[in-house]
Amino acid sequence: MALDEHIDRVLFTEAQIQTRIRELAATISADYAHTTPLLVSVLKGALYFMADLTRAMTIPIAMDFMAITTYGSAQASSGAVRLIKDLDEEISGRHVLLLEDIIDTGLTAAYLLRTLRARDPASLRICALLDKTARRIVDTLPISYRGFEVPDMFVVGYGLDYKQLYRNLPFIGVLKPEVVAS
Ligand code: 5GP
Repeated sequence: MALDEHIDRVLFTEAQIQTRIRELAATISADYAHTTPLLVSVLKGALYFMADLTRAMTIPIAMDFMAITTYGSAQASSGAVRLIKDLDEEISGRHVLLLEDIIDTGLTAAYLLRTLRARDPASLRICALLDKTARRIVDTLPISYRGFEVPDMFVVGYGLDYKQLYRNLPFIGVLKPEVVAS
């Protein structure tokens, strides 16, 4: 079965994602025009978002990556996070923008913020491609930029996986129930 035959419904098409990312890139480029921000993302979900957003930006930027593992089931976050790859760069005194693929309960982002804030950046903000506000537990996150609000559904594509698959879909959608059950 071809990859897109696993999809029940497309929520955001490739064109919609790319248009929204260009808008975000223009806003962020204007807001950080007098600085050289460090864009930080978490592997692997924000991979394409980082690649597309940064290429649409018009100011000099640096980028760095972290990798984490979360404990708990594949579809839910327990908030228990372990850093398995740290940043290469020092962030003290830098303007840091954390790129997130999706913010669900907010527990992962809250953990990352605590970790980064402790290193004394000049500023620290969040840019989230997808925001699932219906399930938010932590409501104090500095989400300065957001791509789309998503309903309370498990979504895949454009970096987001289900059991490590579907990341390479160029759109964001919902899996067929029989795929999730199998
Ligand atoms: P939070 O800690 O905010 O509850 O969860 C954030 C992480 O859970 C995301 O970075 C992502 O890895 C995963 N996640 C939450 N919702 C979804 C979803 O709808 N689809 C996928 N593929 N991952 C999700």
